[in-house]
Amino acid sequence: MKITPIIGLEVHVELKTKSKMFCGCDAEHFHTEPNTHTCPVCLGLPGALPVPNKKACEWCIKLGLALGCTINEETFFERKNYFYPDLAKSYQISQLQKPFCINGKLEDVRINRVHQEEDTGKSVHVNGETLLDFNRSGVPLVEIVSEPDIKSPEDAKTYLLKIQQIVRYLGISDADIEKGSMRCEPTINLCIDDEFYTPLVEIKNVASLTGVMTAIQYEIDRQAEQYSQDKITKNSTNKTTRGWDADKQQTFLQREKEGSADYRYFPEPDIPPIIFSKEQVEAIRATLPEMPEAKIAKYKTLGLSDYDSNLLSEDSYFSSIFDKIITDSDSVYAKFVANLLIGPLKTIEITIDKINPEYFKNLFDNKDQLSSSAIKQLVLESYDKQVDPLILAKQQNLFQVSDTNKLEEIAKDVIANNPKAVADYQKNPMSIGFLVGQVMKSSGGSANPQVAKEVLEKLLVLN
Ligand SMILES: [Zn+2]
Repeated sequence: MKITPIIGLEVHVELKTKSKMFCGCDAEHFHTEPNTHTCPVCLGLPGALPVPNKKACEWCIKLGLALGCTINEETFFERKNYFYPDLAKSYQISQLQKPFCINGKLEDVRINRVHQEEDTGKSVHVNGETLLDFNRSGVPLVEIVSEPDIKSPEDAKTYLLKIQQIVRYLGISDADIEKGSMRCEPTINLCIDDEFYTPLVEIKNVASLTGVMTAIQYEIDRQAEQYSQDKITKNSTNKTTRGWDADKQQTFLQREKEGSADYRYFPEPDIPPIIFSKEQVEAIRATLPEMPEAKIAKYKTLGLSDYDSNLLSEDSYFSSIFDKIITDSDSVYAKFVANLLIGPLKTIEITIDKINPEYFKNLFDNKDQLSSSAIKQLVLESYDKQVDPLILAKQQNLFQVSDTNKLEEIAKDVIANNPKAVADYQKNPMSIGFLVGQVMKSSGGSANPQVAKEVLEKLLVLN
């Protein structure tokens, strides 16, 4: 039996706007006293009127643009009706017919839509009781719906990490999966022998990246097993919703059927249509930062390896530090700076304003006179003290002696004082390391080891 998994992902991202989606309440809800960031609107009290958050709408469009979507200039909100204890209004304000953004693409995965909605409250279970906290109710939420173009749990992970990276590059959400500010619901079925399709299953409540991958793999195996027993194929009524039990590492049936008809969507009567003109959309596009893919391509043209380019572009802040130092598109010292950023500077928290590109250039220009450990030390110290590394190098005597005459004098002494090591060298040239070490020691560590080795080899041949 040939099995091809067909996976689509619905990703929810909580926007980090100051206020909520339809009211002026503070949108912060992590570590807050329950039910302190609430008002009649987000508590769903009768007669309260929602007012859309402009910043949230702009951020939704910004994300859509970053994902290559077409932007609907005229959109409207709709009510998605369902009952849930933490949904006080008994409906969620969302978008169905006219989302802000449609038809995007993230590498090989087509994006169906990116739309704006609001988060629900939270049910908190304490000592067998369920308590409700409405601080999260009405927090802006963006939903990114992919087409079912994903073929494996690994591809799902790659896709999610890319979405996370883009969202963080845009600075519109922390997109923290463990914290719940980014959530993912996979929809899965299988194509069997290129001919038959198993019923669609949507998985809910997956709270980690590993969980998403494990849940998808579990469902692939379960559906294959199920199909081999009952041969039931997909139809318009047999889509089910399954929850993910992280303790048992398995999915379980939650709801038998669910289509958009069940939600009785209708246009939100309290909010007029939203119009973003072409000019407004272009103004938002102009605020898009350089995206990771573009950065990677740029770094490769600077001669950096795939590995270095990926590592540098992983985080927008980190790569902006590199971009501040390397502004010239054919800079000869990109690789040198990349190594320092990925190496010694990777472990410390860097403030971009404290980065002085001139210092890196100075170090690069003098790199042949400095040992690699001295360079590392100077990078850290000059950053810390905000002093030119060359001044520090002079103060600390870190320049290496490459002057062959000076090194010859030292080497002659070393040869005269170490007859046994010299004899060893005549038998085994690999043992020269000892003599190089002695030259380094006599020079107080300032000799350039490569030059010292060359001088020794020359003298020992003459011997
Ligand atoms: Zn409110």
